[in-house]
Formats: sequence, structure tokens, C-alpha cells
Amino acid sequence: MTVTGSCLCGQVHYVIKGSLVDADHCHCSKCRRQHGAAFSSYAGFDPGDFQWTSGEKLVSIYEESSGAGWCFCKCCGSTLAGSDDGEITSIAMGTVDGDPGMQPEKHIYVGSKADWYEIHDDLPQFQKRVANG
Ligand SMILES: [Zn+2]
Ligand SMILES: [Zn+2]
Repeated sequence: MTVTGSCLCGQVHYVIKGSLVDADHCHCSKCRRQHGAAFSSYAGFDPGDFQWTSGEKLVSIYEESSGAGWCFCKCCGSTLAGSDDGEITSIAMGTVDGDPGMQPEKHIYVGSKADWYEIHDDLPQFQKRVANG
């Protein structure tokens, strides 16, 4: 499967030449601020499957000392991807074109959940990041 996506202004595009895996809704306070939303939704993929197909020079990374980063378009501010030590490791699912072929399987960092949001589904909830399987 091939997954494509883009930012709001349409200048940055990416392709993932493979299937998305291990997706979650992240309720951590960092993602909430970075997305300006109740939570973020990220999906992973096999290393090497990801490629920027246009606008890579517009992509900026806000990186913490831990190496965790959020990649966004400098023009429109769309958050496109998550990174670890500068390497793209996950994609922000809200930027995917059409059906990503899978759905998030869990909620993580639920201890940091926004007071104004209630989780109304039966997905498992975790206090931190966990890998599937
Ligand atoms: Zn943009
Ligand atoms: Zn988060």
C-alpha cells in the first residue's frame, strides 16, 4: 500500500511506500500544544518507507533535548510528522490523503489528557508510549 499526504497550504507532500502501523492517539501536553487540539494521532511505518516528495525545504523541526521532534510546514504551520533525533518516525494522521488503511489502536499519555475532553471509545488507554505486540 502507498500512503500520501500533504500540509494545509499544499506545498509539502510526502509518500510512505508501505503500510502504516502502530497508530495511537497521544494526549500528552506537548502534542496538545503543538497541535492546538485535544490530542494528536500518529502512525508509524517501516524505516525507509517515508519520503518527502515536495516542499522539504519548508519543513522545520521543533526538537526537544530528548531528541523527540515535531515536523511542521513553515508556511502554513501544519504538523506533518514526528521525529526522533531528526529522523522521521511517524506521520500525523490528520495530514493523510484519504483512507490511511488502518486506525489508531490505543490512547497514550492519558494522564495528561485535556480536562475538557472525554474519551468515548473502548480502545486501550496507557500512561505512556507503548509499542504494539
Ligand atoms: Zn504548508
Ligand atoms: Zn504526545
